[in-house]
Amino acid sequence: MNALIKGWRATGVQEKLHILIQGALIILFFVLMEWVLGRFEIQVERAAEVRAEETANGLINGMNMLMLTGQISDPENRKLLLSKMSQSRGVLELRIVRGRGVVEQFGPGLPEEAPVDEMDREVLSTGKTLFREVAGENGRPALRVVVPFIAKQDFRGTNCLLCHITRAGSVNGAASVTIDLSEELVQLADIEDWLWIGHIVMQLLLLVIISLFVRFVIVRNITRPIKKLQHAMAEIQHDMDFSRRADVDTNNPDIGEMAQNFNLLVEKLERANERLQLFVKMFDNSGEAILITDAQRRIIAVNSACYRITGYAEDEVIGMNPNILASGRHEARFYEAMWQSINDTGLWQGEIWNRRKNGEVYPEWLSIGTVKNAHNEIINYIAVFSDITRRKEAEAHIEHLAHYDSLTHLPNRTLFSDRLKHTLVAGTRNKTKTALLFLDLDKFKSVNDTMGHLAGDMLLQSVAHRLKSCVRETDTICRQGGDEFMILLPEVGGAEDAEMIAQKIVGAMSEPHQIGDKELVITFSIGISVCPDDATDDDMLIKHADDAMYLAKESGRNNYKFFA
Ligand code: GH3
Ligand code: MG
Repeated sequence: MNALIKGWRATGVQEKLHILIQGALIILFFVLMEWVLGRFEIQVERAAEVRAEETANGLINGMNMLMLTGQISDPENRKLLLSKMSQSRGVLELRIVRGRGVVEQFGPGLPEEAPVDEMDREVLSTGKTLFREVAGENGRPALRVVVPFIAKQDFRGTNCLLCHITRAGSVNGAASVTIDLSEELVQLADIEDWLWIGHIVMQLLLLVIISLFVRFVIVRNITRPIKKLQHAMAEIQHDMDFSRRADVDTNNPDIGEMAQNFNLLVEKLERANERLQLFVKMFDNSGEAILITDAQRRIIAVNSACYRITGYAEDEVIGMNPNILASGRHEARFYEAMWQSINDTGLWQGEIWNRRKNGEVYPEWLSIGTVKNAHNEIINYIAVFSDITRRKEAEAHIEHLAHYDSLTHLPNRTLFSDRLKHTLVAGTRNKTKTALLFLDLDKFKSVNDTMGHLAGDMLLQSVAHRLKSCVRETDTICRQGGDEFMILLPEVGGAEDAEMIAQKIVGAMSEPHQIGDKELVITFSIGISVCPDDATDDDMLIKHADDAMYLAKESGRNNYKFFA
């Protein structure tokens, strides 16, 4: 059954129509044939009955003749009558029923006399003709008729079949005739054969006509318009040209509606495509890199900014895990926390160090968001990032400007003051001494005046460079402003350590500086104060060192003095 239903569903419309129409016609023809055959059967039966009845009536007439002529009582006469009548067409058996018991009969293999049978008895008692189909020769179908012999008038005498007195209207006997129906059956079979032949010819003819008709109707109303629509659909789909529309067939309401619906869909696609193009442009032209992965964190799309920043082309990263960009600067814990935040809150933002394809590690500002489906399951991760190397450099530059002197690149007063405070706090805690050297160039103004401001600047840079060579890494040199410098010496044993540095500086300054094509010698006057011996407060310590420096100036310059 299932196979049948499946087969039916798989059958095309044309074939379905064929099967339905042809099936209906076959059933109609069968019903029609049965009806026609029935009609023929009735007619043939009627004809057989008439023939049998006529033969029986002939027999009765013969008997009547014998009776009227007074020859009925002679059995030889009756036998002769029977023998003559038996020669009629198709007669198998003839019987004359006399009275209620005796029957004279004629037929092949029959004894001359026999008792009345049940059919005879019924006719004799009812006086009505009776037909019955019986088995004839060799079991062939035959029809038996028993016609009552009814007296027209009263008469008496020996020339009666039944008795000597007969009343008018009473049943005087009966004539039974059995005729062979083979002829009629052959006739019926012939009719049936011809009907069948006609039926088959008609069916074949109709098959051809219907199939041509169905084909015509289907091709004209369904196949051709659908093919046209299909062609338009395929072209639009192939060219992805959503500005085009399929023709609407107004002669075909259903297919026309289909085309209209398709056009509506194309219109929506056109709008969606315009939006998509807009987003694609935004995606591609975005200054920020955009990287999209699937739920398994496999990269499915990157924009051109991503290529610019990372150096990886699109086809190199599609399908890869974004961890190919990992710099190795962050520990596993960092990434775990990051993914935890993304999965919990749907967002993570922060600075991260990544590695470009050329191996260069760079800082980026990264935002990772998620896209979820209707079941609240993450289907995409979207990472937006920008290279913040420049920003970091700018920040560093500003930081440098805020804390360093732009000419000598030595820490400025702000940074120095900070470090000084810090050192003093640490020195107090650790009970160590801190020395501060205040330096001022001797007669620097004259350098400016004689060689120009630019040469003065170059000399300041050279002096700063030389000072650095005189101190430890942990010591801080600062340009206080103008031609003044300060040196912070943390954790010194005492004034003698500071003196040693001062001597070193004075010694170093005896060497000339190469400024352009000139050699210049410039000296320092240095004042020294020590914490906690001279002061414990930073301002006082600076002030005392400054005072000491003035002492050095006063005592002839190019030397150092302790605060006293
Ligand atoms: P003294 O021995 O008394 O210190 O004499 P001096 O000529 O060095 O006098 P002072 O220290 O009072 O003057 C410092 C001079 O340094 C004043 C100014 O013209 C000069 N100066 C200050 N800042 C700069 C600078 O950034 N570049 C240059 N070329 N000169 C500067
Ligand atoms: Mg000076």
